[in-house]
Amino acid sequence: MAKSSVLGYPRIGADREWKKALESFWSGKLEESQFQDQLQEIRLNHLRKQQEKGIDLIPVNDFSYYDHVLDTAAMFGIIPKRFPYEGGVVPLSVYYGIARGTKDAAASEMTKWFNTNYHYIVPELDGAVPVITENKPLIAYREAKEKLGIEGKPVIIGPLTFLKLSKGYSASETDVWLERLLPLYIQILRELALEGVQWVQIDEPIVVTKISAEDVRRLKTIYETISAAVPELNIMLQTYFESVENYSEVIALPVKGIGLDFVHGLSSNLAAIKQLGFPADKVLGVGIIDGRGIWKASLRDKLALLEELTGFVASDRLIVQSSCSLLHVPVTSQNESKLLPELKGALAFAVEKLDEVALLTKAVNSGKTTIENELNEYENALQALKQSSERNRNDIQQAVAAISVKQPERHLPFSQRHLVQQDKWQLPLFPTTTIGSFPQSAEVRKARQLWRKGEWNNEQYASFIRDQIDIWVKLQEEIGLDVLVHGEFERTDMVEFFGEKLAGFAFTQYGWVQSYGSRCVKPPIIFGDVAFEEAMTVEETKYAQSKTNHPVKGMLTGPITIMNWSFVREDITREQIAYQLAYALRQEVEALEQAGIGMIQVDEPAVREGLPLKEEEQASYLAWAVKAFRMTTCTVQDTTQIHTHMCYCEFHDMIDSIEAMDADVISIETSRSHGELIHSFELNTYKLGIGLGVYDIHSPRVPRVEEMTNMIERALRVLDPQLFWINPDCGLKTRGLEETVESLRNMVEATLIARAKHSQPVS
Ligand code: GLN
Ligand code: ZN
Repeated sequence: MAKSSVLGYPRIGADREWKKALESFWSGKLEESQFQDQLQEIRLNHLRKQQEKGIDLIPVNDFSYYDHVLDTAAMFGIIPKRFPYEGGVVPLSVYYGIARGTKDAAASEMTKWFNTNYHYIVPELDGAVPVITENKPLIAYREAKEKLGIEGKPVIIGPLTFLKLSKGYSASETDVWLERLLPLYIQILRELALEGVQWVQIDEPIVVTKISAEDVRRLKTIYETISAAVPELNIMLQTYFESVENYSEVIALPVKGIGLDFVHGLSSNLAAIKQLGFPADKVLGVGIIDGRGIWKASLRDKLALLEELTGFVASDRLIVQSSCSLLHVPVTSQNESKLLPELKGALAFAVEKLDEVALLTKAVNSGKTTIENELNEYENALQALKQSSERNRNDIQQAVAAISVKQPERHLPFSQRHLVQQDKWQLPLFPTTTIGSFPQSAEVRKARQLWRKGEWNNEQYASFIRDQIDIWVKLQEEIGLDVLVHGEFERTDMVEFFGEKLAGFAFTQYGWVQSYGSRCVKPPIIFGDVAFEEAMTVEETKYAQSKTNHPVKGMLTGPITIMNWSFVREDITREQIAYQLAYALRQEVEALEQAGIGMIQVDEPAVREGLPLKEEEQASYLAWAVKAFRMTTCTVQDTTQIHTHMCYCEFHDMIDSIEAMDADVISIETSRSHGELIHSFELNTYKLGIGLGVYDIHSPRVPRVEEMTNMIERALRVLDPQLFWINPDCGLKTRGLEETVESLRNMVEATLIARAKHSQPVS
């Protein structure tokens, strides 16, 4: 019989009860024992839900108190030396210290989990002597069995993936580290086998990326050693997010099962099976229900795929499962009460995906006719969405098709535009500016709440926003900045703000997804054709401009960032969605220009994170991402200066694409990867306007003038002074008023010093 399984379940709870428990504990409102009880209840509820839905192999140890990579490090006693830890089970104070920092020690770095928006805590191996502090998978397995009679499937991050995601060791030490970790893995697994565990899921998503021949050899050593030590344990070597790179080697590993992604890696994984077969003694984990998307699956198509697979693998050797952990989707769509019926009807969040997995498994085992009704229901729901008028706007589709046939170009090339712009704007050497937002004080948040609750009418709120703009325009003038901004006081979130005003978007009430730790995000859903309806930012920008003689930069979020931070429809390509967004935003750019705004910034901080995992797909993504940006910005006059902004990503390998966006000025964050970014400009000279962030905006600390002077001088060694701007790393909305003003004053002072130095005629 085929079995059903999922690879992991969301931790946060339908009402974000997990988040609330964590935050209550952190703030001291919950005692540790109460906290532990609450988390256990949440964890058991999640197991009950999967049990109730008839999932055969229910994952355990996928739950976490913060992050599963941190859990793995803590299980192995890998605790950075700056935290007070004396061995044994890692206390919560240390665990959360690593995650969030303490007054004495900085938090560990966090970074994105593959190409998702989930952030994990990067383990720091240097100086650590790994030991087993507790067998977490075993504890989780026992709990599920004792409390609920569930025969759980412990989930563990595999040794190679764990090592590859860690830092604090050099490449030449990889084998040493493997030798240290492998015996610990074996002990954990041995204890699981002794306990009678049937299946263990070992996650090795690293094998969907290009790994070296050396690492392929390591993979072999790891699994040969494990299988020799614990031959009785059924190991499911689990991959996800893409197709595996080294298919032949991976399927030959001595494990009982191989889990492949048949959603995101569908065509390559399927082609590999067809071409190279699948070992008859292994079980295939068929990741067929999308663990990252929010849409109902076409059960009919999925069944056809399963049938096709039974041509290569006997049906009793199939495990029907989600493509990855359900961590990446919201908990349930059931409680949504404000969505269009055709949209709500087509949604499947985690709970609904459990049904899909169970239904498909039933059909494989007992025949298609046993789920005939559901097959029809699902098709009807998908049809209804397809026919939604929101998805069938001919006007939009035709307009977008028409403008996307050729590469969008500004009227003049930068070298000429630049002269026209200098002439018009008469900016000093090293113009100063900020990234857009100013502090969102308690007062600003309060005002928004009053307005949202209906206690303030639109005019009251608008007048409050105007007052904020007044205050900050004055402040910016006093500080001595050259190019001003209105401050973004009317926005909570840079994507939501635009999504709420454009057609084609929907917002859920409860569609939260964990982003990092207790922080959850509620991505908008782009479900229809995106269309511009009315000006979104003109009023505030124009108002700010009316209050000053300095130029005020208009401020928009770019098409790629809006798309990458939303859930999107799947009936058209991401490229098409990006062009629709670009077309809509272009109308906003034009509206701003018509209202007399001559500098317009289109932020694209999320360009990098949409980069496909597969190297061979990256160039094409970058090409259409660049095109979408140009489409948004290309119709303006020569004198209109287009700005963009990017932050918190590795840019050094995509400078060419950034340049191809052809923005007149880019402001780019530099503090995180200082050396690297500046170094990349040594190698490729950047030919457009550029401001490297001169201070980190994440700290309330006011940077000293000399620090910024140093930064400026360093940058000027590799960048053309005539094209250089001075700005902070990113928006200032999380900062306080006083520290912001002081920091900006220092930034202006550093600029004056640099101007004096660099405008002296060369003798
Ligand atoms: N303009 C936005 C701001 O200043 C940019 C935010 C971002 O880069 N994430 O807040
Ligand atoms: Zn930024």
